[in-house]
Amino acid sequence: MTSMNFLTTLLLSASLMSAAPAQPPAREVRDFSGAIDRVTVGGGGGIVGNGAGVVEFEFHQSKHIIDRVLGGCFPGNPCRFETENFQLAEKILALVRSSAGDLVRFEFVSGKERPGFFNTGANEFHRIAKTTLTPGSPIYVNTDLLYETDGKPRLSFGQVVGLVVHELGHQTGEPDHRALDVLGSEVAQMLQGQSFYYRYASEMGGSAFQLGVTNLSFPAKIPLVVLFANDRSRNLTTTITRMVKCQKAKTQFVGYEVTNGHFSVPTSNAVLGVEIDFNAWLRVSCFDSAAKTRSEEIHSLKMTVDKDRDVESVSIVPIRF
Ligand SMILES: [Zn+2]
Repeated sequence: MTSMNFLTTLLLSASLMSAAPAQPPAREVRDFSGAIDRVTVGGGGGIVGNGAGVVEFEFHQSKHIIDRVLGGCFPGNPCRFETENFQLAEKILALVRSSAGDLVRFEFVSGKERPGFFNTGANEFHRIAKTTLTPGSPIYVNTDLLYETDGKPRLSFGQVVGLVVHELGHQTGEPDHRALDVLGSEVAQMLQGQSFYYRYASEMGGSAFQLGVTNLSFPAKIPLVVLFANDRSRNLTTTITRMVKCQKAKTQFVGYEVTNGHFSVPTSNAVLGVEIDFNAWLRVSCFDSAAKTRSEEIHSLKMTVDKDRDVESVSIVPIRF
């Protein structure tokens, strides 16, 4: 098989998860959360509001999730992979973290509109994605298979991540679909968390963008926050995490999760939608190693996204500790 051969993948059957407003103190804000889609995925939460686009966005987030989850499996194999999967996982992680990994893009194509595009094998069913054996290739996703007729996602968040693990595995040179399905479903099952998806629609002014928040407990209780705009996804987790500090004396930061997110727009803005604030609560876990007790603090996060949909500022204010 040459590196230019397209490979398809099968629908994974992994059982998976993926799944009250902040008070910005200083600046007056005008909320328009009614015009914003907020979708909860996985965790049995179902879909809130209009789910359109959520699965595509999960593909855009997936490389960051894979970096995080597989990154927790090295060194020492705490994920307890079998030897074969361990080696494959190591190659996929190296690809995600390489310059070729940065080049990987998701191209959404309707199989009905492009008959034959996803048909590369006589006995393959449910073709959802395909790519090549070359690192950095696009991953083509069949949009006909992402949603039910009522608009509900057909794939869980973990299944999306598992599919991307499978396709990236091909890009490391592995042609075996079965081996990649096994690894994909193992990674999918490691994803115990809640995922929230916030979409700012351009009808409100300025250009559209999306924000994904996934509260993860593995390898640490640190969420993944991804901004997708201008066809580019950016991982904002480190920027936010570096600013979180436990306030109570003699306690150490253990981890946190993001809840209660919503968008607002500063009223000082002459043009609606040019600058957008994302507000949320951080539930911060702190540990007192002398008393051996754990406590929780609530901090308020405010992140301002500028007209180019880059993050302009991040502030975190402890509000209960
Ligand atoms: Zn495959």
